[in-house]
Amino acid sequence: MKVYYEHDASLDVLQGKTVAVIGYGLQGSVQAMCFRDSGLSVIVGSRPGTSFEKAVADGFEVYSISDAAKRADILIILLPDELQGTIYQKQIADNLVPNNMLVFSHGFSIVYRQIIPPEWVDVVLVVPKGPGAELRRSFLADDGMPGVFGVEKNASGCAKEVGLALAKALKLTRHGCFEGTFAEETHANLFGEQVILGGLAQLVQDGFETLVENHYPSEIAYLECVRTLKAIAGLLDAGGFNFLNQSISDTAEWGEYISGPRVVPRKVKGEMKKVLVSIQKGKFAKGWVREAKAKKQHLKLFRQHIQRLLIEKIGKKVRKLFAILH
Ligand code: NDP
Ligand code: MG
Repeated sequence: MKVYYEHDASLDVLQGKTVAVIGYGLQGSVQAMCFRDSGLSVIVGSRPGTSFEKAVADGFEVYSISDAAKRADILIILLPDELQGTIYQKQIADNLVPNNMLVFSHGFSIVYRQIIPPEWVDVVLVVPKGPGAELRRSFLADDGMPGVFGVEKNASGCAKEVGLALAKALKLTRHGCFEGTFAEETHANLFGEQVILGGLAQLVQDGFETLVENHYPSEIAYLECVRTLKAIAGLLDAGGFNFLNQSISDTAEWGEYISGPRVVPRKVKGEMKKVLVSIQKGKFAKGWVREAKAKKQHLKLFRQHIQRLLIEKIGKKVRKLFAILH
């Protein structure tokens, strides 16, 4: 596995280049500020509204998306993945000139051909592996978070140098930025969201309901099924399974081995493989883009369902108590 560090990149190659951050949401706002703090010349492209006003308040020169695209040498595309294709076709494509660079923080649009850039632009992947707020925190602490970097198209001959400089400007090369292709990053990211996040959400809801349906107090069920998760995740992330198991009681560890494979039987891996195949073949992406075009009707129904769950009501109550305790 190729890993890039500080000495593999130089910010000098960004001198004289205008970087347009397109979209000023969770990632856009943070990346724009980090790029600016690293000394780059940054403008923002946004539709009118909340994001536009926030970018102005944060001191940026803000333009419409098409005007920002016209002015920029490097375009950092930080719009919602499912809308990138439509916005690109209407507001970006006609404003590109040879040797411009398109930068993505997730490969969805390129892998699933929502955006098909012309041969004469550079296309690179610069992914901070964490939420925007965490990226900003690590940047300000002069630390750095893990990143993924990849070059899809090198029209200018210096896509790698310029792309790595952008990664360095976000401090992603501080501890090591992993090389990965658009397909690797995109498939793995979607798989993680669907299998780990999706699976865990279901596991937590089912665990909570099983306790409550068997007459255990819902507050206690909540503590066990939700609150404990944070501690477990922190231990696992900090030191791996061995460290996690050393940090819990032998009783907890024994229970983990005895009942874990029972509630998540081995055949579940077969389902995971099916999820992976649907991601690889673009079936998931096709369905998601269709859902977005249909105004996310089903997504809204899923959200309503979650809002009505008992675990949400109890959670509100219990979290209020924590706020008092803290
Ligand atoms: P957000 O939803 O937070 O922000 C999206 C931005 O796009 C907002 O500024 C929004 O503006 C704008 N926008 C939405 N719809 C439109 C539209 N129809 N026309 C013009 N502008 C629009 O997205 P994220 O920051 O979460 O994601 C951006 C990219 O970063 C994605 O590729 C994502 O996969 C990637 N990423 C995200 C991470 C995260 O932690 N969130 C982590 C790593 C990568 P408005 O306020 O007007 O709606
Ligand atoms: Mg989002």
